[in-house]
Amino acid sequence: MSLADRIAALQARIRKACEDAGRDPSGVELLPVSKKQSLPLIQEAAALGFGRFGENYVQEGADKAALAPELDFVLLGPLQRNKAKPALQHFAEIQSLDRPDLAERLRRLAAELDVVRPVWIQVDLWDEATKLGGCTEAGLPALLEALAADPRLPLTGLMAIPPPECETAFTELAELRERLQQQLGHALKLSMGMSGDFEAAIAAGSDQVRVGTALFGERSARA
Ligand SMILES: *Cc1c(COP(=O)(O)O)cnc(C)c1O
Repeated sequence: MSLADRIAALQARIRKACEDAGRDPSGVELLPVSKKQSLPLIQEAAALGFGRFGENYVQEGADKAALAPELDFVLLGPLQRNKAKPALQHFAEIQSLDRPDLAERLRRLAAELDVVRPVWIQVDLWDEATKLGGCTEAGLPALLEALAADPRLPLTGLMAIPPPECETAFTELAELRERLQQQLGHALKLSMGMSGDFEAAIAAGSDQVRVGTALFGERSARA
């Protein structure tokens, strides 16, 4: 199947999931996840209408952004403090904010670099292996306090990678989103759902599905 065919098939599945859930398909964004995919393939997807791509590694995303400045890259992978500066320089958005010390560092650097970068808080409600990252619900107040509603880092939503076996995960996230919206007094988006589970995520209210393999095919071992 060509890339165009895979994208069309994926979009049809997304529309169907929206229909089944009684949702307007224009309310669900498809974010292509291009980690470990070649730049020519990404550019082929860009020619088919995508302008933003999710990446997991700061260096890989920075390299691609340097070669394709017309595209926007979104950071999805765990972010170390010492990579905070290149992350702000090369990514349009950061979805993996999960700790107060990282929020403080990003605020300081965003002021220094004079940039505005929408951020999403990555949450982990299931005590997943720490390697995936994510803030627990108990950790949210400290993180929000560190973020301090900084206008340079507008809080856009919540991102999560729930364990595949957890059937209630997406509704738990939707409920957390509700509580936080009440508390903060503004809307938050939900980024949840990947190749294997985006239909269930859409049924539970996801605003953005992050799809890699179902869109681009298998990832190569090399970046
Ligand atoms: C790799 C990745 C995806 C996409 O995963 P697929 O299963 O290939 O669709 C989505 N979100 C994050 C955070 C990822 O790391």
